Amino acid sequence: MKGKIALEEHFSTEEFLADIKPYFVREGKWEEGKATICDISGKRLEEMDANGIEYNILSLSSPTIQGMCSTPDAIVAARNINDYLAEQIAPLPRRFGGFAALPTQDPEASILELQRCVKDLGFKGALVNGFCNIDDPENAIYLDDPRYHPFWEEVEKLGVPIYLHPRMSVPSVRKKEYAGHDWMVSAAWGFHVETGTHCLRLMASGLFDKFPGLQIVIGHMGELLPFQIWRICNRVDSHKRDCKAEKSFTHYLENNFHITTSGNCSTPALLCTMLETGTDRIMFSTDYPYETMSQAANWFDNLPVSNNDKRKMGRTNAQKLFHLEFLDD
Ligand code: ZN
Repeated sequence: MKGKIALEEHFSTEEFLADIKPYFVREGKWEEGKATICDISGKRLEEMDANGIEYNILSLSSPTIQGMCSTPDAIVAARNINDYLAEQIAPLPRRFGGFAALPTQDPEASILELQRCVKDLGFKGALVNGFCNIDDPENAIYLDDPRYHPFWEEVEKLGVPIYLHPRMSVPSVRKKEYAGHDWMVSAAWGFHVETGTHCLRLMASGLFDKFPGLQIVIGHMGELLPFQIWRICNRVDSHKRDCKAEKSFTHYLENNFHITTSGNCSTPALLCTMLETGTDRIMFSTDYPYETMSQAANWFDNLPVSNNDKRKMGRTNAQKLFHLEFLDD
């Protein structure tokens, strides 16, 4: 399928390479990985052309800004990287858009940076790499914390989606939960438990009752949620305990979340997601350069679904959500 739009597509710069070096070193492709993730309009564009991907919304890799313990440093770094991305994509407005990086250590600074990125730089929303650290790598501040209510209020007002992207859990949790199983700590499993938990925190806090217009995008075929949502609802229905949500978790999944196929080319997992959310809320993505565009595109292009559903998931859902109708002109 030509004209696909992809949304979980990462870049980095020299400044942030230390964050992602372990992933590439582990896989024995550090030199190649470094060059690939720092490239924007070279090999990346060739890969997009070769795989029928017309448009990418780019985001800074994980955990980067969220992992910075110094709040003043995070504020400066977010501003600089957003300016850098805007400059890089400016010559190719029909191929690239941007997600803002936000210094979530400071909710007020995040509001100002999001406003600047959307209104002045033309970004399509923001991508946040999970909880943030403040002062200490063991400190995990999640976005359901009441300190973020003014931030979410502004997100709803601006009408832009927030992509909630994985990061690893805090070191003390990793050391216990994944001891002796380092393979499990990130993309194979831990990322998705961490991000699925973050989504449930948002739902259970009553955030979407307070701000029903919020739209959150999550990757990897829904961070385990579509498969598990019935059991979550069933348990909460029978015993609510401290869950503050006014509606069912299925309601939030159907009204406040969008799911991308990034890094998960499983047809059974897609069918499960389609059954839970319908195809209006599923969008194609690749998770490049951690995964290949060719694997994602080959799988997607050959899916046994109707051309109508393929067109929606591959292109038009993203066009509507991110106001990319200009691509049809
Ligand atoms: Zn990713």
